[in-house]
Order: sequence, then C-alpha cells, then structure tokens
Amino acid sequence: MSNELYERAVAVAEKAYAPYSNHLVGAAVRARDGRVFEGVNVENAAYPLGICAEPAVISQAVAAGYKPGDLEEIAITASPCGGCRQWIYEFRFDRVTFKNAEGEVVTRTPAELLPETFEL
Ligand SMILES: [Zn+2]
Repeated sequence: MSNELYERAVAVAEKAYAPYSNHLVGAAVRARDGRVFEGVNVENAAYPLGICAEPAVISQAVAAGYKPGDLEEIAITASPCGGCRQWIYEFRFDRVTFKNAEGEVVTRTPAELLPETFEL
C-alpha cells in the first residue's frame, strides 16, 4: 500500500467539482513505470452526466498511452462505486487503496472488490 499515492488522492480531492453533493473525491494512479496521474469527480446539473474520480484519472492515463496492465495501483479517497469497480478490474490494477465506509484506509485487489465479474 502506498501512503504517498493515497495522500496525492487526498490533496487533489480539493479540486473536485461537486457543487450538488459536496462529496469531493480524489483518485491517484501510479503506472508501472512510476508516472502518477490524478483525477477528481466532476458533477453536472444533469446529474447522470457526472463522472467519478476513477474513470477521470484512468482516462487521463489512457490518453497518455497506458493500457490495461500498465497501471499498478490506484488510491481513492472514498470507496469505489460498483461501476468504478468494473473500471478498476478492466485495467488490471494490482492494488486498490481507499477509505472505506468505516473511515479506515484499506487495500484490496480488484477481484476482492468485484468477485466473479465477466471478461470479454
Ligand atoms: Zn464511481
């Protein structure tokens, strides 16, 4: 577990755009080559258009040329939602560190967060 990566997620969470829920979430990703990306949730007045911090940060890594398997770990300031667990699984992270509902920072594997999911 990387405390430093989690601290990056905490720091970037302040930049989240969440005027409707006030639920500021930050995420930080470390690629296997050491490069770090940061992302936040971005809400919209049309609520379903909002995006979580996890797809925001993973999309940045993809735009920079990273593919599933290239990303080693992700740290999130909140427990990932169901859809984000699918994103995390797809990109084959080794580890996921997040603050759970009890306020404890824990590290899990994608398979622990999304057991028995499908693969195409
Ligand atoms: Zn989510």
